[in-house]
Amino acid sequence: MRYLSTRGDATPRKFCDILLEGLAPDGGLYLPDHYPQVDSATLAKWRGLPYHALAFEVLSLYIDDIPAADLKALCAKTYTEDVFGTPDIVPLRELEDGVYLEALSNGPTLAFKDMAMQLLGNLFEYELARRGEQLNILGATSGDTGSAAEYAMRGKQGVRVFMTSPEGRMSAFQQAQMFSLQDANIHNLAIAGVFDDCQDIVKAVSNDLDFKRKYKIGTVNSINWARLLAQVVYYFAGYFQASASNDKPVSFTVPSGNFGNVCAGHVARMMGLPIHTLVVATNENDVLDEFFRTGVYRVRAAADTHETSSPSMDISKASNFERFVFDLLGRDGARLRALFEGELGQCGRFDLSADPAFAEAATRFGFRSSRSTHADRLATIRDTDKRFATLIDTHTADGLKAAREHLTPGVPMVVLETALPIKFAETIVEALGHEPDRPARFVGIEALPKRVVSLPADAHVVKNYIAQHCD
Ligand SMILES: *Cc1c(COP(=O)(O)O)cnc(C)c1O
Repeated sequence: MRYLSTRGDATPRKFCDILLEGLAPDGGLYLPDHYPQVDSATLAKWRGLPYHALAFEVLSLYIDDIPAADLKALCAKTYTEDVFGTPDIVPLRELEDGVYLEALSNGPTLAFKDMAMQLLGNLFEYELARRGEQLNILGATSGDTGSAAEYAMRGKQGVRVFMTSPEGRMSAFQQAQMFSLQDANIHNLAIAGVFDDCQDIVKAVSNDLDFKRKYKIGTVNSINWARLLAQVVYYFAGYFQASASNDKPVSFTVPSGNFGNVCAGHVARMMGLPIHTLVVATNENDVLDEFFRTGVYRVRAAADTHETSSPSMDISKASNFERFVFDLLGRDGARLRALFEGELGQCGRFDLSADPAFAEAATRFGFRSSRSTHADRLATIRDTDKRFATLIDTHTADGLKAAREHLTPGVPMVVLETALPIKFAETIVEALGHEPDRPARFVGIEALPKRVVSLPADAHVVKNYIAQHCD
């Protein structure tokens, strides 16, 4: 399997060449040069496999530069009951007739990002050892991503994590999750500023190419292909649980932000998994809903990006969206460059409404979308608690509302549960008047000793800190 860039750079690259990379050198995103096709005989073979074995089957179609036995061992080591809380890893439960929740958030940080990040941690450790290299991951987080990265990389050989976060702005639970990690290779840097300051610092450090090279600075952001690939697996696992045979279509609804999760669904569908509809659920930050309704993709300014009660979906642009547009427009790298570098770069928007391909987003690719508000979330959380005695988090609530707007008779609808309610307790209290249950392993974490340093919002100070803490 070879990988290419959405903006036309077709230098053939293998999986491990792009594993530790972010953007392609031409500013595009990496995609495989084709989608391996999965026929009904293969689906029949895969149905009933344990999750780690299914993961191996899917991944091995895209990774041919890691020996099969090693890849198998990495999958087996990643997807365990010990780490993900259940033997099924992503158990499905029926909520109402034909509507299911697929639990993706029973990993160490209680959000679906663990599904990919845990694998990434093991892949990074493996590949760095093979090359005899080290990597220092620098990131900015306002919550979910940073903690998922830290729990995936803790104790890993060859990897250090330097994670900036806005001091005092994460919930007490989120701070406790990250700052209670005592592993020597995890560095929490609380920055006196807001999330944008943290992002600016990461950019400033990454733009200093000498520093970046000398200190082997890398990232684990959501455009990483390996993360997306790991997410493809649970569409297969969800499909098998929601259907009795491999000729039955199943739909998925995905609470969306950077379009990574639902893009993995798109990849599964392109491989031939019988997915009927892919519903993109957004909150008030409706960049994606606007595109799928109108054909206009319009990036929001910081001032137009809302802080909502489903904060992991608060985006101004959807960084993985370019991957889908590449497929939608017939994989035309020059056209993608003109759209994303040209029009989007200059005007902050592009308009595909007049392009015949736009209609195919729905007809050929199965995409639909919906948008929710804070009031919708509260209503959905209350209704789900009352009618089904089931507590859902705010992001999953956005998904459930969207799912009900796009049901097809006779087609099961799987809503991806992307986080557990305890992570967003304030909104649960607002909706229900009481705190959500807390899994036993998180009781009292706020009282644990914290390992964090406070730094000013200054890239030089952060660079000095990194330099001093690289052996
Ligand atoms: C990251 C995240 C999302 C959005 O996922 P994308 O892949 O960015 O679309 C949704 N819900 C939760 C809880 C998340 O952490």
